[in-house]
Amino acid sequence: MNVRIKGRFAPSPSGRMHMGNVYSALFSWLSAKVQGGEWLLRIEDLDRQRCRREYALQIEDDLRWLGLHWDEGGTSGGESGPYFQSERDDIYNEAFERLEAGGLLYPCYCSRADLRAASAPHASDGVMLYSGRCRTLSKEQRALLAQRGKPSYRFAMPEGSVTFEDRIYGRRTFDLQGDCGDFVVRRADDNYAYQLAVVVDDALMGVTEVVRGSDLLSSTPMQMALCGVLGYQVPSYMHLPMLVNSAGQRLSKRDASLDMGILRERYKPQELIGHLLYLVGIISSDEPLSAEEALQLFSPEKMPTADIVVG
Ligand code: GLU
Ligand code: ZN
Repeated sequence: MNVRIKGRFAPSPSGRMHMGNVYSALFSWLSAKVQGGEWLLRIEDLDRQRCRREYALQIEDDLRWLGLHWDEGGTSGGESGPYFQSERDDIYNEAFERLEAGGLLYPCYCSRADLRAASAPHASDGVMLYSGRCRTLSKEQRALLAQRGKPSYRFAMPEGSVTFEDRIYGRRTFDLQGDCGDFVVRRADDNYAYQLAVVVDDALMGVTEVVRGSDLLSSTPMQMALCGVLGYQVPSYMHLPMLVNSAGQRLSKRDASLDMGILRERYKPQELIGHLLYLVGIISSDEPLSAEEALQLFSPEKMPTADIVVG
C-alpha cells in the first residue's frame, strides 16, 4: 500500500514564535519533505484566553520568512479543515460522545487543590499522576459533587502498556496506569483538552508522522491509548531533543533574545536554519543554509538524543 507521508506543525498561537518553535517547525518540515511528503499547519488555539488570531497570522508570516511552506492548513485551508482547533468543537464532540458511549470516560469533580493534594508526582519527569479519586464514585456521590460545579471528563486508562518505536529515541514502553493515569479530555469550562484534540486532528487530517519536542514524549502513550479506542491508525513518532539554555533549562518565551521578532532583525533565515543544523550536529561549522539546502543534508539517523545547549 502506498501511504502518503504527511507531517504537521501544530503551534499554539499564544505569542510570537521563538527558537524552540522554529526548531520543531524546521525538523517536522525536513522529515516530511525528505520523504517526498506533505506538511500541514494546524493552529492549536483551544485555550481561547491565551491564544489570538494575530499570533497565528504572525506564525504564518514567520514560516514564510523561513521558507517553510505548508501544503495545507492555517488560513490557506484545505480538504481536512478547519485547521484552527477553536473551530473544530463539533468534530471533538463526536469523538467525545463515542468515548462516552463506550463507557470510557467519567466526570471528575476535583478542584485544583484536590488534585495537588491527591496526585503523586511521577518520578521520572515530574508529571502529576491523577489519583483516580473520581473513577469509582457512586451515582449518589456524583450527584452530590455536581452541586459544586461542572466536572471535567477523564479518560479511564485501561491496564496494560504501550510500546512504540521513536525515530530518534528508539523503542519506548510506558505503563498506561503507572506512567500516565486517567487524563482530562474535556475541561470543566467545556474546552476540549489537547490530548483529545491532537489525536482526533492528526487522524482526521491524515497525518502519518508526528515530529515534536521530547517534552511531549510522555503524552504519546496517552494519545496512542485514545487512538486505539477511537479506531484510528497510530502515526509514527519522532521526538526531538530539547533545546536548553546555558543553565540547562528548556527554552521558553522568557528567553526573549530568542524571540522571532528579535531573531528576524538580527539574522537571515538561512543563518537561523544553518545554525539549527549545526546545533544538532548535522553540519560541523555554523554556516547559512536555505530550507531546501538543509533538505539535502537531513536524515533522522543523524539526530542526537541529548539536550542541545543554545547560546
Ligand atoms: N500545540 C503543541 C505545542 O505548541 C504541540 C502539540 C504537538 O505537536 O503534538 O506545544
Ligand atoms: Zn477527580
